[in-house]
Formats: sequence, C-alpha cells, structure tokens
Amino acid sequence: MNKFEQLGLNESLLKAILDLGFENPSEVQEKAIPLLLEKDTDMVALAQTGTGKTAAFGFPLIQKIDADNRNTQALVLSPTRELCLQITNELKNYSKYEKGINVVAVYGGASITEQAREIKRGAQIIVATPGRMQDMINRGLVNIKNIDYCVLDEADEMLNMGFYDDIVSILSDTPDEKSTWLFSATMPQEVARIAKQFMSEPLEITVGAKNSGSSTVSHEFYLVNARDRYEALKRLADANPDIFSVVFCRTKRDTQAIAEKLIEDGYSAAALHGDLSQAQRDGVMKSFRGRQIQMLVATDVAARGIDVDNVTHVVNYQLPDEIETYNHRSGRTGRAGKLGTSIVIVTKSELRKISSIERIIKQKFEEKSIPSGIEICEIQLLHLANKIKDTEVDHEIDNYLPAINNVLEDLSKEELIKKMVSVEFNRFIAYYKKNRDISVSGGERRERGDSEPREFSNNGAVRYFVNIGSRDNFDWMSLKDYLKETLDLGRDDIFKVDVKEGFSFFNTDPQHTDKVMDVLNNVQLEGRRINVEISKNDGGGRRDHNNRGGRRDSGRRDGNFAPRREGGFRGDRNSSRDGGSREGGSRDGGFRGDRNSSRREGGFRSSAPRSENGGSDRAPRRSENFGDNSRPRRSRRD
Ligand code: ADP
Ligand code: MG
Repeated sequence: MNKFEQLGLNESLLKAILDLGFENPSEVQEKAIPLLLEKDTDMVALAQTGTGKTAAFGFPLIQKIDADNRNTQALVLSPTRELCLQITNELKNYSKYEKGINVVAVYGGASITEQAREIKRGAQIIVATPGRMQDMINRGLVNIKNIDYCVLDEADEMLNMGFYDDIVSILSDTPDEKSTWLFSATMPQEVARIAKQFMSEPLEITVGAKNSGSSTVSHEFYLVNARDRYEALKRLADANPDIFSVVFCRTKRDTQAIAEKLIEDGYSAAALHGDLSQAQRDGVMKSFRGRQIQMLVATDVAARGIDVDNVTHVVNYQLPDEIETYNHRSGRTGRAGKLGTSIVIVTKSELRKISSIERIIKQKFEEKSIPSGIEICEIQLLHLANKIKDTEVDHEIDNYLPAINNVLEDLSKEELIKKMVSVEFNRFIAYYKKNRDISVSGGERRERGDSEPREFSNNGAVRYFVNIGSRDNFDWMSLKDYLKETLDLGRDDIFKVDVKEGFSFFNTDPQHTDKVMDVLNNVQLEGRRINVEISKNDGGGRRDHNNRGGRRDSGRRDGNFAPRREGGFRGDRNSSRDGGSREGGSRDGGFRGDRNSSRREGGFRSSAPRSENGGSDRAPRRSENFGDNSRPRRSRRD
C-alpha cells in the first residue's frame, strides 16, 4: 500500500498525488493528515519551511470538503498575495480529480468585484489574505458564518506583518464549532495567543526542533566592508554562474535599488516588494518561476513563503532585523529535499548576529571569502568550455559550414580553441590584466588589515589541491576528518577545506607539507589513486583570500537552467578553484557578458578591505589580483 494511502487519503487524492510526483509523505504530512482526517479537531502544527505544510492541511481539507455543497466551507488565511495564489494553485492541483470543488483566491490589489463574483458562483474553499478578507466581510461580499474549517497558514508571518487585528476580526465572524488548523514555522507569543484565544484543545504537532532551519540548507557568511556589500553580491553571482536565488534586502527602497543596479550591471535580476503594482509583481514572479530571472531581490514580506523549485541560493544582502526572519529567508532554498545554500553578506559589526542565528538554527555557519577575480575568471572560463562541450549542434548549421570552413581552415585545433574562447573572454582578460597592475593598493590595504585576529588570516599556510571532492561523497567536514585521519594530524592542522565536485583544496601549516605530499600521494580511495599538489596560486594574501573556504560548488545542484545572460556557458560541475591553472572544474553558468568590459567601477577588487573594518584577509596581496574596482560589465541581454 502506498504511504499516502496508509494515511487514509482517498482515490482521487492519491491520483493527484501521483501526478504531483510525491512519493512519500513528509514528516509533517505523516503526522497531521491522519489526525485531521480522523476527526474534526483544532490543530497547531509547527514545521520548518519547505517541509510540505501546504499538503499537510491541503490534502485533508480537500477530502473533507463536501463537493456537492456549493457553500463556502473552508477559509485559508495566508500572509501574502503570492502565497495566496500559490496555495490556491496547489489546492486546485490536489482536487483535480474531485469534481465540483472550487477554490477561489482573495487578495488585495485585484478587482474585489471579480473576486466576489467568483465566490458567488460557489467557492467551497476561499484562500485569502487577511486584509482583503476583512474588506470583503465588511462589504458583505462573502459569508463565512458557516464554515467548517479555518486554516491559518504561515501564522507567524501573518502576525509579523501586523494582521493580528484582522485575523481576530475574521475569526470572530466564523462559527465556534469550526475546526481551526494553524500552521507555522515558528511559535512566537502572538501565535500562541491566537491559539489560546481561538482554538480549543488543539492537537499539537511539531516537526524537527522548533525554529530550527532546514538541514538541506547550508549556511555561509562572507565578511565584507559595509561599502563592499554590493560588490560582494556581484562577485558571488559571478562565481556561481547558475545561481538561481532570492536576494533579501531590508527595505523596499534597498530592494528596488539593488535590483536596478544589478540589472544595470547586466545581471538577470528583478525586484519584488510591496510598492510594485500587482501586475508587476505577477510578472516578476512569473519570470522568476520561469527562470528568466536569476536573482529575485525581495523584501521579507514579499518573498515570504514563496515556493519556487530549485532555488540554489538565498542571499542575505542585509541581515534581517529580527533574527527569526532568517529562517523564513533561508527556507526559500533547500526545499523538497534539494540542497541549498544560504549566504549572508556580513560586516564585522554584525558578526554577533551570526552567532545568534547559529543558536536559533542549530547549525553552524561556514565562513567563506569572496572569490577573487582570478577565480571568477576561471570559473567562468571553465563554464564556457563546458558549455561549448555540451552544446547540441543543430544540423541547420551544416549548410553554413563550407563557408565557415573556408574562413577557418588554416587554424589548428589549438588556435581555434584559443580564438573561440577569446571571443568571449578578450575583454574580460583585458580588464583583468589592467586591474592586476593596480592591485598594489590592494596589498596596502591588506597590510593594514594584518592585525586581524588569526582566525581571519592564515599567513604562511600551504594550500593544496587534491583530486577528490563531493563526487566522492565528501563535504568539507568529512574531508577534513578523512585528511586528519589519513595524515594523522590534529584537529586544527587541516583548515580552509573547500570541496568542489571533482577536487578540493585545503591548507596546512608548512611543517606538514612533506607529510601531506608523501602520505596522500600514496593513498588510494576506492581503488583510485589520490593526487595531491601544492596549489600554485597560493601566495600571501591570495591564499588567505581564497582559501577561506572558497565557494561551494553550485554545480552539484541541479541547476540546469540556461542562464539568460549572454554568452552564458553552461558548464557543469567543479567550478572554481583556487587560482592557478589546473583544475578540471567547470561550472554551470557562464561568463556572459564581459562585453561592455570595464566600463564601470566596482568590480572584482571591491571585496578587498578598504578600511579598518574587517576583511583584511581578503585583500589580494599579489599583484595578479584585481587592483581596482572595475569589473567587466556584463552585457545586457536582450
Ligand atoms: P512549507 O509550507 O512547509 O514551507 P510547502 O508546502 O510550500 O512547504 O512545500 C515545499 C515543497 O515541497 C513544495 O514544492 C511541495 O510541492 C513539495 N512537497 C510537499 N510535500 C511533498 C512530498 N510529500 N514529496 C515531495 N515533495 C513534496
Ligand atoms: Mg507554507
């Protein structure tokens, strides 16, 4: 018997679930569904974001609704319009084999008369935002006096958003005998208050530790100077060519400004916040879901609860005021069992907050450094190479080949490759060379920062490249353990472990170098010889800079959407490496637009410390690092 069947769900739902592709119930579903089906009860269900709460109330709700009765039987309240539409859509999917169930969305910004008309036609389930719902009640456009079920979804967020009064007022318009189901990721006092006031002996289910984040999300922070925030964001995007992300800002104004800047710089970005018209918001969400937008810059309110598949990164451009909010943000990624990364761009003065968040999410952050220009360049180049390799040839092209061959026939394969790559990269490389000369100032800055605590620098360490990585089932922790054991070294002797798909980097102090080279080069891992080399590109600050953890390989995720950016390469895997020329890596995404070249200030180098304010470690010391702020401007696409 199918696991969902065991929960007591009926045929039509089971069929719909099959279509949805859900194989097994999630924990909250497993706990909530049988209880809700079995009897009419109040319930408080606490589960992290991304754990499938919608279906946990949606499946039983659909099953319990009387499809032959056209009256409104259930009200689902949700905090935002986006979420409201999302839930409506989900419920429609769940009920697609159940004839006669109508679900209507009610939210601000759209025509109230049209919504009223839809309800009049018979809506057994209304999914509403509290403000609009209150409005409809006031105008007598809706009757919820006889509902059997009321669901408060994302209750914590609704209350965060100041809907307490609306909710209280709406609930008082519903019958006492109804069942109230409250779903929330966290249980702040206001939620408890609602539960106490409006629910009678609710069954309580809690999934995972209260308030803890999803374990499919890894958390990283990048320490930068406040003024380098934006540059850091760009670099992170450049270092993750296939990034598909929600970037959180604190205010609507910042949200708009950052999105505009990104667009101006040629990134595929858009803003989502409450000041946009609803048509604009719809358009943005549609593009984001369709992956025409890689970076959705959003306020907490606007992005709350949004469920878009395969978001690779959540970027906390600024940390939220309320630490609790961090969970809601990071829950936009790592959904449905997929892996995701939550990145925080943080200044030194905010570092305390990281520890507070760690306590709340019960997970550690990994400190990483913003990739250098060299690394980004390499990532993008490999990405291009892989993209070329993976490009499918449309045989239409054959018609043009004779003419093309005519032009290119004298070139050797090597020359041809060089030239092809250069088509995309000349500008970037030019930019890069140019910047290299200026990086002296970066060195100076770094010097200044040398008084940083040791944890922020690793002077004198040796960086290694090793040919094992996440493909061999390592993550940074397990690789560290493996190395420690294999090399018989102490806990702190291996550091800055940075695992890519097919290879990894790590550091030791120089006194361990002989051992590392001797031992590791003579070890086999599942029959494969391990190869370790000293990373060539690890001089001084550069080593510090890179090795601070480095970037996570975005290629491990299934980010297989083609970036819209021009010239985007879709390599895969492996991604960046620590400077130098080796690396088999490649990574999805592409160096799209280095076109327009260095027209703008503010590029690679910007993550170098500019003031006393931390980050000294990331100042490239060597001249090959970018020495000024310019970055190749991405070409604007279409
Ligand atoms: P929450 O409300 O807890 O944040 P959602 O209900 O939005 O989470 O679900 C998150 C994602 O997980 C959605 O994309 C949903 O389709 C998917 N999902 C839910 N339940 C299952 C399941 N049993 N199996 C696979 N995927 C699921
Ligand atoms: Mg939800």
